[in-house]
Parts: sequence; C-alpha cells; structure tokens
Amino acid sequence: MSSVILVRYGEIGLKGKNRIYFERVLINNIRRSLGDLKGIEVTREHGRLYVKHEDAPDRVIERLQRVFGIVSVSSARVVPLDMEAVKKGALDEVKDNIKGGGTFKVEAKRANKKFPYKSLEINSIVGEHILKNTEGLKVDVNNPLFTVKIEVRENSAYIYSTSYPAPGGLPVGAAGKGGLMISGGIDSPVAGWLAMKRGVEVIGIHFHSFPFTSERSKEKVVELCRVLASYGGPIKLFVVPFTRIQSEIKKNCPEKFYVTIMRRMMFRIAERISLREGCTVLFTGENLGQVASQTLESMAVIERVVDMPVLRPLITMDKSEIIEKAKEIGTYDISIQPYEDCCTIFVPKHPATKPKLNEVEKAEENISGFEDLVEEAVEKAESFYVDPKQGVP
Ligand code: ATP
Ligand code: MG
Repeated sequence: MSSVILVRYGEIGLKGKNRIYFERVLINNIRRSLGDLKGIEVTREHGRLYVKHEDAPDRVIERLQRVFGIVSVSSARVVPLDMEAVKKGALDEVKDNIKGGGTFKVEAKRANKKFPYKSLEINSIVGEHILKNTEGLKVDVNNPLFTVKIEVRENSAYIYSTSYPAPGGLPVGAAGKGGLMISGGIDSPVAGWLAMKRGVEVIGIHFHSFPFTSERSKEKVVELCRVLASYGGPIKLFVVPFTRIQSEIKKNCPEKFYVTIMRRMMFRIAERISLREGCTVLFTGENLGQVASQTLESMAVIERVVDMPVLRPLITMDKSEIIEKAKEIGTYDISIQPYEDCCTIFVPKHPATKPKLNEVEKAEENISGFEDLVEEAVEKAESFYVDPKQGVP
C-alpha cells in the first residue's frame, strides 16, 4: 500500500480549452507550492489530481490548503483493485483514526465498472469486515461519526476518511495580472487575497515616505506580501519613494485636497508601473464610505487619472467582515502592528468628502512639473520578489 493526496477542484463552467488551461496552471502552482518537499509527483486523471509525496502528509496538506483553485484535499491509501486489499485498507483506515468506540459507515463509489462488486456490495462486505475485526464500533448509515470512503478507479482503489477544505477559486495566473496598491493597513492585503482567489497574479505597489515613515513600516508590507505569497507564489513588490511628491502637495495645494491629490498621484504611478509589468487592472483596498477619500464622489475624482480599470474587491464589505477575513488568511496580526503609513501622517483636519473634479485639477496645476515628479517616482521605485512564508496560519 502507498499513500497519495487526492486534490479536488471546481470544474463548474470550465469546459473545452478553458479547462485544459486551468488544469495546467493549477498543476504548475501545486508543483511550485510543494517544490521544496520530498518526492513530489503531480498527476492528473479524470478530473482529479493526485499528489504523490515522500514527506509528512500534514505538511503537504497544509500547503495545498493554500492553493487557489483547489476545493478540498484528502490523504488516501492506494490499494490494488482486489477485494482483500480493499478490506484491509479500509480496516487500517478505521484503526488509525477511531480510538475507542463509535459509529461508522462505508461509502464506496465505483467509477471503474470492471471491478466485480457494485458499490452497495462493497459497502456491506467492507463494513462487515470492519465490524468483525474491531471492538465497540457500530454501523450508522444516517449519522455516523466516521465515514470510510472508497473510490474504485481505473488502476487502483483509494481509501480515505477526511477531507480538508481548501480556498477554492481559480488558480493564480489563470485570470491575468493586476497591480495591487498595498499599504500596511488591514484592507489592501485582503483585497489582494481576493484578487488572487479569482486567479489574478498580483504585483505589489507600495508608497513609502521615508523618513516620515520608517524602514519598519516598509518591512510590514513585505511581511504582508509574504503571507499573500504563501497562497499564490512569489510576489514582485515595488516600493515607490513618495516623500517628494507629498511635500510638493503640502507646499502647493489646499489642505482639503491633500488626500485626493495624493491618491491621484498614487494612481498615476501605480498605473505606469503596472503597465510595464504587463498588468491590465489595478486593485485597491478601498471600501465605500470608510473615510473621506472613499466616498463615491472621491473615488470617481481619484480614478479619473488612470485608463486602467480600478477594481475594489472590498467595496461593499463591512469593516467587521474585512477584519474576519484578514484574521482567517493570516494578515491581521501584521496589519495591526502600529507602524505609521504615509497616509496617516498626511491627514488634513477637514478633508473634502465630495471634491469637485475641476477644483482638484486646478489645485494640481500648482504643483510645477508634476509630470516629472511622477516619472521620477516610477524610475526610482525599488523592486524585489517576496517569497512565501511557509506554514503560516
Ligand atoms: P488599508 O487598510 O488598505 O490601508 P484604508 O481603509 O486604511 O485601507 P486608505 O488608507 O484610505 O484606506 O487607503 C485606501 C487604499 O489606497 C488602500 O486600500 C490601498 O489600496 C491604497 N493605499 C493607501 N496607502 C497606500 C500606500 N502607502 N501604498 C500603496 N497603496 C496605498
Ligand atoms: Mg490605510
């Protein structure tokens, strides 16, 4: 007997060429995510992936639980297509997993009709075998404590009892590439995670205002990207020097438009970097009505400066829902570390909640040579890859 991990993925709506493409990206992502583990081999058979390994099953499962596109995984015993082997495998599965008494049932699925026993026959033969060779166990087909699943497939039978959930969605890269504007806050990492969940490969773009914001606040963003990378693979992060632009805004523009203009500058720069990197959209962590810059009116005035679509995965979520998600994906504890963000040091007392486009455009004209400033920030952006942090919750 050997063991293998069964990988289930959603197929709904994926037909023809799409499905082949989707599977190929998924297989590559799985290989990448398990690359440093022992004896990994990924194969595909009839809408199912199998991961052979020589590592601890828990380690492999933990990694697979972070791969988008996978719905659930199970560690299965693989036995030959022979009733005695199936009986033994099922009994071992029960003995390894049920300590003490309890109820169980056997649930066989015979995909390979050449196997001489029908599913119901397998259930009763294997069930009887388990009862005969254990103590304190009873069969309960309606509400069992434990279910032994047996899948009879082309070349082998697979026996398992536990399915571990994975995040679902689409494999990262299958839906293209986007530029994620990432701060050290709670929201933008969650927005990035959701974009990745729908198959988008993201690059990170972070605006840094040294010395107003510390080196540590930049590291915080790197840590956040590390968590995101543990789901979707290495993330290319751009750190854009933003101090000069902020100072120019402060020097030349009315205070009530500081944030609006700052955001417009961020968008201009982010779009240019994203274009160069082959991205077709921008993602932000904006959320309707949270702060002055996130009213519908503000967002409209801000995004006017770019041609790329701006996607805001969190737009309709409540703060509590965002926090819950951040905790679940493992970014929350990093986000709440108290390091300053370039926006928090730049907040006017009375920001415009409904800025007028023409007024903002006029105010912006006071910044002389702002085109050069934008270009300079793009040129001076530092970029590097952030690798996954393995085994984070
Ligand atoms: P977050 O929790 O993501 O910081 P927020 O609710 O604090 O969001 P803002 O700080 O107003 O809202 O920022 C709105 C969005 O603008 C962020 O979600 C992010 O996408 C982008 N953004 C803000 N600050 C930065 C920054 N320093 N670098 C890159 N993007 C930023
Ligand atoms: Mg913020």
